[in-house]
Amino acid sequence: MSLFQQEIAALQTATEQRAMFNQAREQAAFPKLVAAFPAIRRQVPLKPYCNFAVGGQAALFYEVTSESELMRLYRFLRTEQLNLPIVLLGQGCNLLLSDNGVNALVIYLGARFAKTALSPDYRTWDYPYIEEIQRHEALQGKEHLSEEEWQNYALIHVQAGQTLKRTVQLAAQNSYSGLEFACGIPGTVGGTTYMNAGAYGGTVADCLLGVRYLSPDCNIIELRPGYLDLQYRSSYFMIPAMQGAVILGVTYLVQKANKQDIAAVIKDLTIKRESLQPLNYPSAGSIFKRPEGYYAGKLISDAKLKGFRIGGAMVSDLHAGFIVNVATDCQSRDICRLIHKIQKTVQSLYGVTLATEVRYIGDFTEQDFED
Ligand SMILES: Cc1cc2nc3c(=O)[nH]c(=O)nc-3n(C[C@H](O)[C@H](O)[C@H](O)COP(=O)(O)OP(=O)(O)OC[C@H]3O[C@@H](n4cnc5c(N)ncnc54)[C@H](O)[C@@H]3O)c2cc1C
Repeated sequence: MSLFQQEIAALQTATEQRAMFNQAREQAAFPKLVAAFPAIRRQVPLKPYCNFAVGGQAALFYEVTSESELMRLYRFLRTEQLNLPIVLLGQGCNLLLSDNGVNALVIYLGARFAKTALSPDYRTWDYPYIEEIQRHEALQGKEHLSEEEWQNYALIHVQAGQTLKRTVQLAAQNSYSGLEFACGIPGTVGGTTYMNAGAYGGTVADCLLGVRYLSPDCNIIELRPGYLDLQYRSSYFMIPAMQGAVILGVTYLVQKANKQDIAAVIKDLTIKRESLQPLNYPSAGSIFKRPEGYYAGKLISDAKLKGFRIGGAMVSDLHAGFIVNVATDCQSRDICRLIHKIQKTVQSLYGVTLATEVRYIGDFTEQDFED
């Protein structure tokens, strides 16, 4: 059996996490952790946190409600030298969670960590934002802005658990433009920054002014987008050294515009998305990244795989780039096998490698990918 690179990486991560987790469990500090943080729950089913509606249990699960408690947790892990694998979870819209569960401390950032503030008065902004705005390409090389021009801009500060959709709505309701492209992208501000999500010609990178995160070694750091290596569905947070880093919040730049025009763009993009995507089924959106020079959906459709099904997982009839969960007993391994089948078919027919956009998380084994 030949496995593609990302599947091998998923298996390696699962093996490493199993070893780390078992080692941590044997340490005396493990019971202390659960005692010091009563909010940490054990054996939590993850299906409700995964948009694909598959997956086993998290060994440990913690929902973030404040930065200070999260800091206290990270300090505890360091002081006690408790080398636990950590997995971050947003809305689970881009995840394939293993049926065998996740042997890690799963940290969830959702509605309880979702403060959002619009800041229209530039006189109150921190200097790094002012500097960053002056560099922003939207200004087309202008070095200085008049008072009136500054008043055209606003910042939106958002905690990572807020949804991107809600943030787009807030901007639109207040007549600020810049985020419309993201009106239909599901997921949290944290997850969409991690993925550098994008649609219809825009990406999160285009409107980001700064990202605040907790580093794996327990420091709070604010970075400008230039340092985040934001590329097509990838970011600095994906490098191995950043494993366990938590995106805490971001700041977006938006610009005053006509409210009706903004609403019209959002309406248009929503209609487009609803007509082209199977939004009434659980999925992770596009399963594969766009291969250079091709469209994954077209290759899969040309390979006559639309409607092809393994267990409860099916290639969408509407958009071949989507795998949809069509049965209540659908397993994560049905989706893995279908991904593998698509990759093998497209590779043999067209010589194109389809790399997955979806993130494999949890305790995968080789059997999960076997035909
Ligand atoms: C119907 C549908 C349509 C979609 N359309 C699009 C689209 O048009 N464009 C697009 O780009 N994507 C699209 N997606 C994919 C998905 O919306 C994005 O990938 C989004 O970024 C996922 O956000 P999330 O909060 O659900 O992240 P999750 O799926 O929970 O996590 C994704 C990754 O981010 C990490 N992560 C999450 N939160 C944090 C945090 N706070 N700190 C550090 N790491 C974190 C996770 O560990 C994981 O590796 C679509 C998905 C669906 C289901």
